[in-house]
Amino acid sequence: MKLLIMGPPGVGKGTQADRIKDKLEILHLSTGDILRAEVEAKSAIGMDAKLYMDFGKLVPDHILIEIVKERISKPDCDNGYLLDGFPRTLPQAEGLDKMMHSIKHELEWAISLTANEDELVARLIKRGEELGRSDDTPDVIRKRQKIYWEKTAPLLDFYLDKSILKEVDGLGEIPEITERILHVIK
Ligand code: AMP
Repeated sequence: MKLLIMGPPGVGKGTQADRIKDKLEILHLSTGDILRAEVEAKSAIGMDAKLYMDFGKLVPDHILIEIVKERISKPDCDNGYLLDGFPRTLPQAEGLDKMMHSIKHELEWAISLTANEDELVARLIKRGEELGRSDDTPDVIRKRQKIYWEKTAPLLDFYLDKSILKEVDGLGEIPEITERILHVIK
């Protein structure tokens, strides 16, 4: 099964994606994780991406499209994957459509996790303190939320039009939310 999960920063996409991939025995592809690994490795992509990530900005579309295209074309993806954090803009969604079509992959579901914004900002500030993520400071968090509503939320309509959007309430206990997701994609 090939699917994606989206939602505002702090809604728990990564946590849920990790659990869903185990249950469905598919890969979890987080573009945030891939980019952080590139930054850590000090690769050319990483050095470039860091300039955007540290300020809560989106890394340019062409970089993301290239990274994802290369990744999902690998044979280990044939069986299924869950994209987390991609696409985040309309050009990325259109790019994904094209690249999946060209390798005969079909996107079955787009899961949208929803939650109240104040709750999310509080969660992220806590995560920033606990994990020391350089983009989890209050200013950067608010900026990332704003970008989500401006650039990523329009994708809800994109997937609604394709009749593959499933909205899931992202507030509650972690296992309970996982069950909600599994239920809607059954
Ligand atoms: P995340 O872990 O998904 O919150 O991503 C952390 C940061 O990586 C984001 O704030 C962006 O700077 C960058 N990033 C991850 N995925 C994308 C994407 N699809 N498009 C642009 N930037 C991205």
